[in-house]
Amino acid sequence: MRLILLGPPGAGKGTQAQRLVEKYGIVPLSTGDMLRAAVREGTPVGLKAKDIIERGELVPDDMVVQIVSERIDQPDAKNGFILDGFPRTVPQAEALDRMLREKGLSLDGVIELKCDEGILLDRINKRIGETAARGETVRPDDDPEVLKKRLVAYRAQTSPLVTYYSKRGTLRTVDGMAPIPHVTAAIGQALDGHAGRPPGRRAPSGTPRKTARPAPKRGASGKRGAKSRRKGRAAGSRKRAKAPRGRVAGGRRRPRKTVKKPARKRGRRG
Ligand code: AMP
Repeated sequence: MRLILLGPPGAGKGTQAQRLVEKYGIVPLSTGDMLRAAVREGTPVGLKAKDIIERGELVPDDMVVQIVSERIDQPDAKNGFILDGFPRTVPQAEALDRMLREKGLSLDGVIELKCDEGILLDRINKRIGETAARGETVRPDDDPEVLKKRLVAYRAQTSPLVTYYSKRGTLRTVDGMAPIPHVTAAIGQALDGHAGRPPGRRAPSGTPRKTARPAPKRGASGKRGAKSRRKGRAAGSRKRAKAPRGRVAGGRRRPRKTVKKPARKRGRRG
């Protein structure tokens, strides 16, 4: 199962991603978490990303595309993954499409958590208060002013992805403002509803298509029309040699019409 979770900051993507991870046995792939880890570890990527993250801006596309590509190649991502926080721009989505195609993979669905920005600001303020009350460190970008900036960035750069994926028929929209278990249930329903073949795999080559071959044109009754029957008789008199011939039921001879010579030359042996 390969999924994308789309939604503004504070929409609860992390919580829902965790639940999907447990349900499908896939790995969470949060670019925000990966970038924060890089900052903590002081890697070259982390050093470049630190200030950008703290300002609530987006790190350059190529940097984030590279870390996602490397993460997808890890053995634990073979069973699938859920992308949280990536893609965040249309160029990132296009890069992801290319990357997956090159790796012979495909997406199973894109879940959009639809949210009200005013409520999100309240939520984030609550989260900051709770984190501080537990004596834990508040994330530098968990700040109302930074959140406002991140929401503006989401609206401008990430929300076009809703159109991008809805055009491709992969988007499933869920009410992100509902209680957490309801959101989880709605996501489950959205994903199960779309399941056709086993997720994440292309149909093996040689798999018969589901669409049936078009039926030969017939009249509304399903029988061949008079024109078609006439045509068949005229053009196919030789072919009709295969039709039962000789005597009809009751022992009478079938009256010959246009065909003079015996319709079948070879006698049947045995
Ligand atoms: P998040 O935890 O997903 O809200 O991400 C935290 C911060 O990491 C963002 O505000 C960005 O600065 C950076 N970031 C995370 N994902 C991306 C991405 N896909 N593209 C660019 N910047 C990102």
